[in-house]
Amino acid sequence: MKTEVKSTCCYCGVGCGVLIETEGERIIGVRGDPDHPANRGRLCTKGATLHLAANSPSRLLYPEQRAWRGQPGQRVSWDEALDAAADRFAASIREHGPNSVAFYISGQLMTEDYYVFNKLAKGLIGTNNVDTNSRLCMSSAVAGYKQTLGADAPPCSYEDIRQAEVIFIAGANPAVAHPIVFRMIEDARAANPDLKIIVADPRRSETAEIADLHLAIKPGTDIALFNGMLHVLISEGLVDSDYVARHTHGFAPLAEIVQRYTPEAVAEVCGIGAGDIVQAAQWFGQRGAALSLYCQGLNQSAHGTHNNAGIIHLHLATGQIGKPGAGPFSLTGQPNAMGGREVGGLSNLLSAHRDLANPRHRAEVAALWGIPSVPDKPGKSAIDLFRAVQTGEIKAVWIACTNPAHSLPNQPAVRAALQAADYVVLQETCANTDTAPFADLLLPATGWGEKQGTVTNSERRITHVHSAVPSPGEARHDWEIVVDFARRLAIRLNRDGERLFPYTDAESIFNEHRESTRGRDLDITGLSYARLDRDGPQQWPYPAGASGGAERLYADGVFPTSDGKARFVPIQHAPTADVPDAEHPISLLSGRLRDQWHGMSRTGTVPRLFNLEDEPLLAMHPCDLRHRGLSSGDLARVANARGSVVVRVAERPGLKKGRAWMPMHWGSQFMNSPGVNALACDATDPYSKQPELKHAAVQIARVDLPWPLAILRRCADQAEALALLDAARVRLADYPYATIGLYGRQSPLVVFRAATAEPLDDSAIAELDSVFGLADEAGAIIYADRTRHIAKKAVAEAGRLVGVRLCGESLAQGWLKQAMAEDELDAGLIRLALAPSGKPPRSVVARNIVCKCADASDVQIGQQLAAGGNLKTLQEKLKCGTYCGACLPEIKRMVAEYAPTEAAAA
Ligand code: SF4
Repeated sequence: MKTEVKSTCCYCGVGCGVLIETEGERIIGVRGDPDHPANRGRLCTKGATLHLAANSPSRLLYPEQRAWRGQPGQRVSWDEALDAAADRFAASIREHGPNSVAFYISGQLMTEDYYVFNKLAKGLIGTNNVDTNSRLCMSSAVAGYKQTLGADAPPCSYEDIRQAEVIFIAGANPAVAHPIVFRMIEDARAANPDLKIIVADPRRSETAEIADLHLAIKPGTDIALFNGMLHVLISEGLVDSDYVARHTHGFAPLAEIVQRYTPEAVAEVCGIGAGDIVQAAQWFGQRGAALSLYCQGLNQSAHGTHNNAGIIHLHLATGQIGKPGAGPFSLTGQPNAMGGREVGGLSNLLSAHRDLANPRHRAEVAALWGIPSVPDKPGKSAIDLFRAVQTGEIKAVWIACTNPAHSLPNQPAVRAALQAADYVVLQETCANTDTAPFADLLLPATGWGEKQGTVTNSERRITHVHSAVPSPGEARHDWEIVVDFARRLAIRLNRDGERLFPYTDAESIFNEHRESTRGRDLDITGLSYARLDRDGPQQWPYPAGASGGAERLYADGVFPTSDGKARFVPIQHAPTADVPDAEHPISLLSGRLRDQWHGMSRTGTVPRLFNLEDEPLLAMHPCDLRHRGLSSGDLARVANARGSVVVRVAERPGLKKGRAWMPMHWGSQFMNSPGVNALACDATDPYSKQPELKHAAVQIARVDLPWPLAILRRCADQAEALALLDAARVRLADYPYATIGLYGRQSPLVVFRAATAEPLDDSAIAELDSVFGLADEAGAIIYADRTRHIAKKAVAEAGRLVGVRLCGESLAQGWLKQAMAEDELDAGLIRLALAPSGKPPRSVVARNIVCKCADASDVQIGQQLAAGGNLKTLQEKLKCGTYCGACLPEIKRMVAEYAPTEAAAA
């Protein structure tokens, strides 16, 4: 029988509600929850394919212990696994003290999971060494809010997007990173053509495409821009002096500082026009409700906290906070980074927005937990934590639901630290992450669709997530693993684990967390699982007796500071940690693609999510390419003192000269290097300890690997493709350039690309043929030109092309990939796959996919329109534009070309 269960998308912090469709114990589909306030039924491409990423063959199903790292694990029972871990942690604590162990956890965990991890470290063991990948994502937003507004509380709601008169987007690209928020922005513009959109981004991003004003600032000059805008607000009389006087402190010292930030001076620092700075400030100060949206571009910086303070200053100076359509709105990266912040899941925080440095806060938490004290020594934040693992100060590290061997900057140093660690526990859903080979003990955790608990999205909205299917194999919920381990460790430390960890279900943990918030700014004492199920997702604060959550904070101008006033911070422009110089002249920026998520451990299992880009590309300005003798499609080595990566380059005019851009998703599972984070800078912000992941100074040089290789292998289904992907990815290390990925939809392809300095010999080719199932000569067409070292092979089964190996020359790979995925190469034309020209036969029409969600191409749309179709029939027949909506402008443009009247009506 089919059923639907309410849950949330496990990707970004928009926190879209989903309905998971199940049949028996299997997840068979997903759709947007029409009742969820965050998305009202909409989903982006990633969310709409969640169910396809739910059945990875690399799923961890049993605890595994390794005698040697990197070797296959031996299956052990949960008792054996957790006793072994408890023995190792207890021995380290006894011998070297509580700070010799650490926990590195994740914004993907449920709030309840986070809570018990925090209590395990700070309450049972007596160390504050518990940090999270949210340190890489949101800690500057936390510190920025606290320095200015007094508490880590985004004051806005998604409803404010609809009501804004001007939207200032800085260091964020919601078109790809928060697609449903971007849909809200598009809706706001459609409803209010006068809405002004300003985007500050060093790159002409997808979001910048819809901006009325794009400020393509130099990387790391955000503070100069914000101070410059404040200068204009002051000089043009756009400051709300009454608001500043009644509700803030510290304006005068900052006003003195920003006197020097004239539009002309700032234009020089930021590399943009002075008139644009004035225009941005005027729109911000004159048009009514002003809303800022910002994310990693501000946070992932060695001065991320002050970047955040700078944008918040603009709101405090103009009184644009606490009103409909106004406020500084930090977009959360991960699905439950907010929940982690609420329970104090960082090494400097305590439950319910309490500070570790505050003795009263420590005493309150100790009383709540029934322990004598919480340790006062700050724990290690992410970067320092792994440095301490490297030096041996931390002996045992427990990693849960995150992938530091991909996501942390300066990957060579991080991997050396993991290699040097005495003991590594990895609590994960899958065994094929870059971190997994470093683990001594692998513990199988439940994942999306299986987990239970609560999550909080960017607008402070808590959703109760239900398990849709039982835990597979012996996988356990994260909180269950922690509680079981904690009780075993407590016995070894002579503590009462049953009293400290009495929980029998996630709800009992939620109830304790709820009590910890009583009287705090995020008070949720009015909430319960039952209320969340009855009334739906709710925003905090929601104190006992309330009839609803708070849509907006600070409407009364009272802030959670000692005197109720917000603070201006005397901030100054500072250069990036990595300053480009003659040796490393290019500013390398990292970012996201719309259809991939983080390290691709989930989205990298769904073939159609590679259809947008199936190879990591380094985007560069045409002049920078030419200067290095490069053209689009060539290979280049990108390097700095931290690392080196070989990558294919692509011309992108949206970048200014001297800047390059690369997606952060590809790591060692999909290419032969750790990806862009091998180069990323691990300098951190002094307040938030967040590293400068967004920017690194690099040199880029042509690399001569003149012998290309491309293998396209068609598979019967996703399961077969994933099995081949797993078997073949070990070959990545054999080549100076190599990537592997998926492509297609119904009959997915595995796509392997490599390049070498010398031609491949016959044995290397034969080995590859064997890995990709192309060894059989029967039914194969072979083209070999030994003098030119070209060796091509096409394998067909029942008249269908199932595999192609192009060695020495791979010009045809583009159209072949498309033709194989669409199964449109007729049997008589298969030999053309190996033609020296590399050109497609006339029957194969080059096409562009317009709707990536429905895989609808311009050719298909054109055929429908030529047959008299309109927008409605396109949506009915091809389903294009009916999912995330990103392609609707393009589809409407095509409709307009065929039938202007119809388009106008639409
Ligand atoms: Fe998931 Fe997309 Fe919604 Fe983000 S915007 S929560 S990725 S469906």
